[in-house]
Amino acid sequence: MERQSRRTILKSSWLPLAGMFGLPSISAAVQETSSPYRRPKLKITDVRTAEVRVHGYQVHVRVYTDQGIVGQGETTDASQGNVPLIRQFSRMLTGQDPLNIEAAFERIRTSGVFAGAQAGVYVTALTGIETALWDIAGKALGVPVYQLLGGKVRDRVRVYCDSGEREMIPGDERSKARIEEIQEMGFTAAKIDIDDARDTARMDRVNWTASNGEIEHMIAKIGFTRENYPKNFDLAVDMHARYDATTGKRVAKEVEPFKLMWLEEPVPAENIDAMREVRASTSTPICCGENLYMRWGFRELLEKRAADIIMPDFQKCGGLLEARKIADMAHAYYVPVAPHAVTSPIGMMATAHVCSVIPNFLVQEWHWIDSRDLWRNWVKEGEIIQKGFIPLPERPGIGVEMNEDAAKKAQVPGTPWFEPTRRG
Ligand code: MG
Repeated sequence: MERQSRRTILKSSWLPLAGMFGLPSISAAVQETSSPYRRPKLKITDVRTAEVRVHGYQVHVRVYTDQGIVGQGETTDASQGNVPLIRQFSRMLTGQDPLNIEAAFERIRTSGVFAGAQAGVYVTALTGIETALWDIAGKALGVPVYQLLGGKVRDRVRVYCDSGEREMIPGDERSKARIEEIQEMGFTAAKIDIDDARDTARMDRVNWTASNGEIEHMIAKIGFTRENYPKNFDLAVDMHARYDATTGKRVAKEVEPFKLMWLEEPVPAENIDAMREVRASTSTPICCGENLYMRWGFRELLEKRAADIIMPDFQKCGGLLEARKIADMAHAYYVPVAPHAVTSPIGMMATAHVCSVIPNFLVQEWHWIDSRDLWRNWVKEGEIIQKGFIPLPERPGIGVEMNEDAAKKAQVPGTPWFEPTRRG
């Protein structure tokens, strides 16, 4: 009975995958090498990278195994310097079982405590690998990643549209057209930026204390955007962690009538007390955390009640399981999670898997409105956002595969494209 069900499960989950990798005997091979609890014995053989430039510089990661299963991950924002780090991590991973994800994560993290493993590029490089290991685990076991992270609490993930590079200019017809366009795409929430280094009312090139004129411009921009969206359309506003505490408090107070979904990083997130001071001064919800890493980066922020909403970037902050752990910590404080997300559909779908399993998920970012041709063609599955939501696929792993012809258009010139690691 046990044997029969094992065989049935493995066959049903592996056959489509075997076709995908062009390895007709893979199903049988995995059955041969499976342990009694139906788990294939795999070994990592290589880790390779490809570098692209879309929303800034980003690194795609592939982890290879001895049975033809390949996992993919993506890193963003703190990606500069990831490639040599990933090459270094690869040496720790080769020959290891890719399904022991927590062990791999801890081995790499703790081996780097004197080399920057607390935050930044080190953790971002680790994130790309961790994500790829989840993709492998899902493919090896024949289940979507969300199933391995606790199972879905929602079938689709709400996405908000970052309005992109086109500024929202009060009265401007192109800005109105962009607002229309975002609604036609089916989004129910959007974000705009109000920090402007070129604002004519800026008094100093370096200091970010906003003048009365600058604050007036910020309010006009929000007012114009707010009145052009319907009342029940949610609007978030980003200040990009540039301003001082006085400016942060002034703006948070003045935008109260707009009932924003949130005001993002009115001050930098590094000084938790300053963020808490801003939050305590206003009824506007404060969101922050796109530059914080792992559980330890969010601990004090949550303990001091310094934010209403947190926004870890799951393709940067430590990986998918780490994201789940951060979200669970936030849940204990009744704080919702709205992940920062600026990657290709591969990273976006990986993020969506986590968003589908955390009870306190609010909304996930999308930032490729100005790169839509690349966006639609980046993965073989095509457009992953349906009317403002990402439906979770039932395919094993992350559930999307790169369309190389499309993604290569964004390759950083002169960089390798998933070339095998040369050892010697
Ligand atoms: Mg931001």
